[in-house]
Amino acid sequence: MKCTEIREMLPDLAAGLAPAEPQVNEHLRTCIGCAARLDDFRKTMALLDEWQAPEPSPYFDVRLQARLREEAAKEPARGFAWIKVLRPVMAAALAVIVIVGAAVVRLEEKKHQPTPGPVASIVPGTPVGDLQALDQNHDIYSDSDLLDDLQTQEDVNANP
Ligand SMILES: [Zn+2]
Repeated sequence: MKCTEIREMLPDLAAGLAPAEPQVNEHLRTCIGCAARLDDFRKTMALLDEWQAPEPSPYFDVRLQARLREEAAKEPARGFAWIKVLRPVMAAALAVIVIVGAAVVRLEEKKHQPTPGPVASIVPGTPVGDLQALDQNHDIYSDSDLLDDLQTQEDVNANP
């Protein structure tokens, strides 16, 4: 058997978990390196068996509980700290949604609005016709400077 094969078995051999086969025993008897390693493993394991975990200091539990309460009082909402970090991002996302939504609604409204134009039944030049035209095209006139232009034209015509 090769040393690499034997050395993989050494921890189990030292712990007594693997039965020592005749080939393995033969190798260990002739190979000083592997025998020394097995010896080291056995010594280490013996030390570990002797070692005892130290007892926690007195009042350890009491002090731990006190410390935990202290920390809990310091930051009551530590578990939700990520919400604080994400809040501006969520606000920005909400703002974008509202703006885009408003723009879409406006576009839809414009699409469905009939384009205002002159009405055929109105007879231009008559007082009733002019009033009807003003009434029906109120939106256009109130939004544009068209009315002002007409007014200036009339002034020019009245005082040439
Ligand atoms: Zn060997």
